[in-house]
Amino acid sequence: MALIVQKYGGSSVADPERIKKVAKRIVATKRRGGKVVVVVSALGDTTDRLIELAHQIASEPAEREMDVLISTGEQVSVALLAMAIHSLGARAISFTGPQVGIVTDSSHTKARILRINTNRIREELRKGKIVIVAGFQGVDINENITTLGRGGSDLTAVALAAALKANCCEIYTDVAGVYTADPRIVPRARKLSNISYDEMLELASAGAKVLHNRSVEFAKRFDIPIRVRSSFSRGEGTMVTKEHKFMEDVVVRGVTLNTDEAKVSLRGVPDKPGVAAKIFKTVADENVNIDMIIQNIGKKGKSDISFTVMKRDLKRTLAIAKKISETMGAERVDFDENIARISIVGVGMRTHSGIAARMFGALASKKINIEMISTSEIKISCIVDKKYGQKAVRVIHTKFGLGKG
Ligand code: ASP
Ligand code: MG
Repeated sequence: MALIVQKYGGSSVADPERIKKVAKRIVATKRRGGKVVVVVSALGDTTDRLIELAHQIASEPAEREMDVLISTGEQVSVALLAMAIHSLGARAISFTGPQVGIVTDSSHTKARILRINTNRIREELRKGKIVIVAGFQGVDINENITTLGRGGSDLTAVALAAALKANCCEIYTDVAGVYTADPRIVPRARKLSNISYDEMLELASAGAKVLHNRSVEFAKRFDIPIRVRSSFSRGEGTMVTKEHKFMEDVVVRGVTLNTDEAKVSLRGVPDKPGVAAKIFKTVADENVNIDMIIQNIGKKGKSDISFTVMKRDLKRTLAIAKKISETMGAERVDFDENIARISIVGVGMRTHSGIAARMFGALASKKINIEMISTSEIKISCIVDKKYGQKAVRVIHTKFGLGKG
């Protein structure tokens, strides 16, 4: 019997009317036959509000307590959704992440799933119930509640789909699928009917907010096809699958804008072996993910090293950077929060050349200065001044002919 995992994001369950609509959709799926597991996010912007609340209490709330707090959002949604399904005369049961044995490591606020004990879910599915699981949360081996990082309900859904060997994982959201660019920035952006895991991964890590990147990694590893679609319309959405040959015909699939990062620079660092290793190891030991890195050519035995981190890690990173800079005899530490990362992604980049030059040319044509560049096999990113971010996305989107015909 087919098993389908459906995930509904916060905007799909923002208010009682929407919850009732989602319930109808779930019941319709169930009535078509098969088993249905539903993962749901917190209502609307609940998580943001909980985080704000915490910051009104403490400037740096303990991460363990943060998890206890923000996991409550999803507990509200699962209960309400189960009630809505009951009112439609169908059978459903709600669970928190810990209750269904989603075991994670102990990195609070960005925990990794270690294993899922699917017994309880299977048992309820066998009884013919729709199983509703709170997204975004788990429990570590010491029974501490953990959360999986912002947007982590996608990960819950894909991980459950993998653990239950589901036929498909559908992610319902407020957009019709994956687009060539954010339609709010580029009105002529086109919806893609399919995309490869690797492209989706790069788009997600580059700032496309449709899918959580670890959920895509997971889907890739277990070859779980994901369908991203809107909960407000009937469209087919976008299928995210393993790579097919025809995908290489298109050079660039999408352009993204990410303004969640900040740049940290260590100025006047001694230019000798082992310095970069020391800096990045110290930062990594604090569980801060560093992204783009550049080192400027040294002058008089000194050089500058800059890197980007998520803004939410900036405070911690600066504290670490200042400490390292003192022990190494560096001159100073600077930071810049007004940066934007523009990225282009496409598996076709492997077989086509001159793509970077075209991207830089597009930026130059609008006199947008590039501060940092990084490339991978299928992605090129540039850091520019934040105020040119949207303009940069539009000019690049046009340059690569990605818009509607
Ligand atoms: N509610 C959580 C968040 O807003 C998880 C999710 O929506 O996927 O980040
Ligand atoms: Mg949310």
